[in-house]
Amino acid sequence: MYDLKIVIIGAGIGGLTTGIALKKAGYQVEIYDKVKELRPAGAGISLWSNGVKVLNKLGLGDRMAAIGGQMNQMQYRSYKDELLNDISLQPLIEEVGQRPYPVARTDLQQMLLEAFPGTVKLGSKCVGFEDLGDRVTAIFEDGNTATGDLLIAADGVRSTLRPYILGTEIEPRYAGYVNWNGLVKASEDLAPKNTWIIYVGENKRASMMPVGGDRFYFFFDVPLPKGTSTPPEAISKELANFFAGWPQVVQNLIKQINPLETNRLEIHDIGPLETFVRGRVALLGDAAHTTTPDLGQGGCQAMEDAEVLTRYLLTTNISVEDALKRYENERKERANAIVLKARKRADQIHGKEPEVTQQWYQQLRQESPLDVTNAISKTILGGPLH
Ligand code: FAD
Repeated sequence: MYDLKIVIIGAGIGGLTTGIALKKAGYQVEIYDKVKELRPAGAGISLWSNGVKVLNKLGLGDRMAAIGGQMNQMQYRSYKDELLNDISLQPLIEEVGQRPYPVARTDLQQMLLEAFPGTVKLGSKCVGFEDLGDRVTAIFEDGNTATGDLLIAADGVRSTLRPYILGTEIEPRYAGYVNWNGLVKASEDLAPKNTWIIYVGENKRASMMPVGGDRFYFFFDVPLPKGTSTPPEAISKELANFFAGWPQVVQNLIKQINPLETNRLEIHDIGPLETFVRGRVALLGDAAHTTTPDLGQGGCQAMEDAEVLTRYLLTTNISVEDALKRYENERKERANAIVLKARKRADQIHGKEPEVTQQWYQQLRQESPLDVTNAISKTILGGPLH
């Protein structure tokens, strides 16, 4: 279809990638976000090859390579510092045709913002929409409106537009664990600079992966009941308690983090949803399929959404509604499967059934590195770009 005007709500990874893809396809695009200043939630993200391929197709491969970390190895160690598995990522890269890139979120967001050839209107909180039959109008809190041929709700886990599309409210599901994350200067006394290192034990994780700018993105996970909170200045102490007795490297990491710049969040997911689309309005990214970060796939799925939505608008010619239905059919199957797989993985990692987690620790010791990379390749190759 030609000459469409598209209104996107949300300038996260999903909204921006979609905006870039649709502009490249020749459409008019406007992006709106409620915040006055865009700041990414979270410090880092691992973009697996399926996400990177979407960026490659948008001409952003070189820029991604410049801000991404060189992650060549994955290493699992126990909380008693035994090496459980040392995995080269080279077979994965060869299998899927593109290396993954861990990246600082601010760098990724900056790159996407610079690549979007239009303006992102900030301070614009969308509160609803009106479907006019042949067009759709987004309505903002300040009384402004934006009308287009279609509306994309890329407004995240607590999406304002989702209830209008589903006809019902959905409460995100607590995944049973808290995640802390941030950035530290990379140093060999923490981990080899080309390695994603993951310490596991007691249903918890402590991990670092290299991002651009000679830094490690770190995260910690601990299963906790819903509703705990800690003031930022007490985070180092909290982590020191949870990880008491863990290896010296983990203690060094806790000493090096800046607690005031460390994010602490309860992990949630959403789905599987049966509906992503209503008429001329489509959910995209976390708004449609918030995913626990245990496969590192949530952002990559938002990028896949961008690719598939743009493809159907470009290559089919019945109607906007028809193209969106095709998008929904294709993405529902893929993204919902990832939500469920990540949920299962989150339970396995965080001791929902303690014996399952013990078996996983055992499996990590015995598994061949190729089995690990083949499983990741399979997830990557299930995406729309091969
Ligand atoms: P968001 O990034 O949430 O963006 C939504 C935007 O909409 C925001 O800017 C918000 O301000 C705006 N907005 C909301 N409501 C309104 C409104 N009413 N009007 C206007 N604007 C509005 N994914 C990976 O691929 N790899 C990883 O390694 C990875 N690690 C993760 C680690 C953690 C701890 C977490 C929590 C997630 C991780 N993810 C990862 C998932 C990834 O972060 C998300 O899937 C991705 O950021 C979703 O992007 P989005 O654009 O859909 O939503």
